[in-house]
This record gives sequence, C-alpha cells and structure tokens, in this order.
Amino acid sequence: MESVDRAVSRARAAQAEWIARPLPERLASLSRLARIFTRRRDEVVEAVRAETGKPKVEALAEVLAAVELLHHYARIAPRVLRTVQVGTGFLAGKSAHVVREPWGVVGAITPWNYPFLTPQDAITSAVTAGNAIVVKPSEFTPRSARIIPGMSVEAGLPEGLVQVVEGDGTVGAALVAAGVDKVVFTGSSATGRRVMADAAGGLTPVLLELGGNDPAIVLEDADLERAAHGIVFGAFFNAGQTCLSTERVLVVTDVYDAFLRRVTALAATLRAGEEGGTDVSRLVTPAQRRIVREQLREVRDAGATLHTGSVPLEEEPRVISPVVVTGAEEGSALLRHETFGPVLPMIRVQDEEEAIREANGTPYGLFASVWTRDLVRGERVARRLRAGGVSVNDTLTHYAIPGLPMGGVGDSGFGVRRGEDGLREMTRPRTVLLHRWGMKREFYWFPYSERATRWVEALVVLRGNGWIRGLPEALRVLRRRGA
Ligand code: NAD
Repeated sequence: MESVDRAVSRARAAQAEWIARPLPERLASLSRLARIFTRRRDEVVEAVRAETGKPKVEALAEVLAAVELLHHYARIAPRVLRTVQVGTGFLAGKSAHVVREPWGVVGAITPWNYPFLTPQDAITSAVTAGNAIVVKPSEFTPRSARIIPGMSVEAGLPEGLVQVVEGDGTVGAALVAAGVDKVVFTGSSATGRRVMADAAGGLTPVLLELGGNDPAIVLEDADLERAAHGIVFGAFFNAGQTCLSTERVLVVTDVYDAFLRRVTALAATLRAGEEGGTDVSRLVTPAQRRIVREQLREVRDAGATLHTGSVPLEEEPRVISPVVVTGAEEGSALLRHETFGPVLPMIRVQDEEEAIREANGTPYGLFASVWTRDLVRGERVARRLRAGGVSVNDTLTHYAIPGLPMGGVGDSGFGVRRGEDGLREMTRPRTVLLHRWGMKREFYWFPYSERATRWVEALVVLRGNGWIRGLPEALRVLRRRGA
C-alpha cells in the first residue's frame, strides 16, 4: 500500500536524524512532549471523549498515564540504554560490551479502548529507545492518535519520526508487510494471531498485547467493603472495555452471599449513559455491542440471573447499565472468553484451591487480583496464577505505575510494554568484542595441534569443575601424551 510504504520510508529517514542526536537532547524533547500534552490536555480529552464517550475523568487518566511514562522513561533511559561491559572469562587481552540499538522503524497497531494512551505508550517507548514509529490506530478512533504527530514536532522531534496512518485492518496488514523492523500489536487475540502469521513472512519480530479474561479471587478473610468497591471499579471502569478489566469474580462460599449483596448494591448506584455526568459510558463499536449481547443472552437463556439495571437484550444497546451475573453456565462464552463490557459474572468456589484452579482455567493470562487481609497469603495465591500481572487488594492500578512492565501469557500474548523491560523491547543488543593485546595467533585458531586440544580439554575441566576442584584433573590432562 503506497501511503503506508511512503510513511515507513519517511520514518526511516527521520530515525537516522533522531539517533544522531545525543541521548540527553532526545530525552529533553520527550519531557517537552509531556508538558505539551499537559498544556493541551483539553484537546486530547475532547478527542478521546468525542470518539469513545468516556467520562472526562477517564479521558484525563489517559493523559496522566501518558505523561507519567514519558517522564519515567526520560529518567531511566540513560541507565537502561547504557552500554554494558561484559567480562571475557578466561579470555585475556580482550574486552566486550553490549550496545542497545534501536530496531529502526517500529510499526504499531492499536485498538480503540484507550485511543490516545495506547498509541502514545508505543510511541514513548519506541522513540525513547531511538526508533521512529508509524502507528495504525483503530479505524473507530483515529482522531485521538492523529493529534500526536503535530505535538511531537512541536516538542522538537523530527518531522516524520512519529506518523499515523489511518484505515481498517487492511492498512494494519499493509504496515506489517511494509518492511518495518518490529511490530507492536495491541488488540484481540484473533487479530494478534493473524498479525503474527503475516509478520512471519518477513521474519519481523512482534510484540503482542492481546485480550484477557481477568479473574478476581475474593477469599474468606477479605475486607469485603474494599473488595466490593475495588472490583466494581475494576469491572466497570471504561464500561469494562479495558484489557485489565475484572472479567469474573471467584468468591469463597463463606462470604459469597454478603459479597454479592454488596457488589450488586454498588453496581446499582452507577450511572450509565452517553452524556457527561455518568460513570459508565457506551460500548464503542458495533462488534463489541454484539459480543456483549450474545454472551449475556446465552447465559440468560441457560438460566443465569442478571442482577441490576434493565438489560435490553433484544436490541444491541449502545449503553448497558452494569450487570452482575450469577449462575452462568460453566463453559459459557461469558466465563471462558473476553467480554469487554460492563458485565461481571460472580462464581461461588469452595476454597482457595478451587479459586486458583478456576482462575487458571481459561486460555488467557493477562491480569488477576486477589483479595485477602493476609498479604503473605495474597502473594502466595498470586504466584500460582497464570497472569502477566497480579494485584493484591487492588485493581487496574498497575497502569498508574509506569515502572511496571505489562504483558500477558497464553492467548493474552507475549512481550511487554512500559517498565524497563518495555523500553528494552524497543532495542536489540549489539555485542562488540575488542581484542586489545596478545599473541598473533590465539592458541585455539588453525592449525589445530595435540597441545592445543589438551589445553582446551584442561579448560573444560577447570571451567566445569571450578579452579580448585578441577586443578588435579586439568594437570593430568595437560601432562597426558598422544591425545
Ligand atoms: P482488534 O483486534 O479488532 O483490532 C485491533 C487493531 O488491529 C485495529 O487497529 C484494527 O484495525 C487492526 N487490525 C484488524 N485486522 C488486522 C489485520 N489483519 N492486520 C493488521 N491489523 C489489523 O481489537 P479491538 O476490537 O480494536 O480492541 C479490543 C481488543 O484489544 C480486546 O481484545 C482487548 O483486550 C485488546 N487490548 C489488549 C490490551 C493489552 O495490553 N493486552 C490493551 C488494550 C486492548
């Protein structure tokens, strides 16, 4: 696709200019960009709200998380990206080091649920590490990403370093095929699979941030009031259209009834709607409305109870009041797959063991939370969960901490963004070895000799067993004749 190819070659030229600047100068531009986002936050908030209808506080959260990451990376980049000396072991007269090289041009494909933050996160990590980036935002929310390149130039980044190409999946596929050096994909597991298959053609490395079906485990010793408030927030923030959303709650039987009562009471107080002054906004895309409606209809028809609000399942409603579901069938799409809507199924479990088993019972592994007054127990349970990140007595807050890497396992993808690891993902190690002094010929170079072979064998013994334990045998090897 010509427009995409053009964007990638422009990005390549801008990257050469960018990487030629000293790191402190590049980082100063990124700090400036954070200040520009802050000064022009109303523009960002307006774009995000126009495209998604989310409450102002949630749109501001996108700006906050974006500026946090910019400042965090400006602080840690000199250390994370520095050249690291590596010991050369038994090889004398040499030195070795590892240089963090940017990939070159990164292609990022992003979804619609955080239409400013997700593109900007990819941009922040790519350009901090010295790359250029071409972003293909969701066709449902291009405006929030479209405002970023202009602001980047205002901050001092070269023209063309940050570009946005617009369109649907065909443009995304064209970007994957356009010879970019790394693909960062955030979206559904199904599309992630296609992107990875397409990237395989060019052996292009991919980072996949995919869907989730994140569990919350409420143990019998939980602070039920905090757990109820936290889980309601985790499930219904951004109308449940968050990859880290709480998608199901596993509640130990002793506290199940009390917890259900509290959660349904809290959910019933939330105001859902399209205009300002609401807590729960609309579902952004028609496909999303269909998925939520189908999943709810399936469990309702099989006998589940939908608590709170009226749910007009005969249509595809743009706005759904928060729904708490009990009695959903095991194996239903609601429990097995991602919902990405304001729906919270509640499942009764006997004990901690059953909760862990259930929590790990889907192909996803993105996030999870555990609720207990005993932090040691909380962490012990957390360690047994198959998830890229776990909170104890908290939820969604991971994203407010830019130092935490984010990523999943299984159907939730692989690779991470944010945190030190997220910055390193935008680089590859280039290893350099310098021979500084020594002989004209290393003892292990051609031509091979019986003596050199004995030396190498002695080295195996010494390095494998350690110098003290290996010395007698190594000496025997060296004294041996006719190897
Ligand atoms: P999606 O997979 O439908 O689309 C994502 C992006 O991929 C869009 O820009 C789309 O145009 C593009 N695309 C579609 N087909 C393509 C193809 N063949 N080749 C290349 N690009 C293509 O996802 P969505 O509905 O936009 O977003 C919702 C999903 O994103 C949910 O599953 C959610 O969990 C996930 N998500 C994950 C994270 C995370 O960090 N793990 C964060 C946000 C959203």
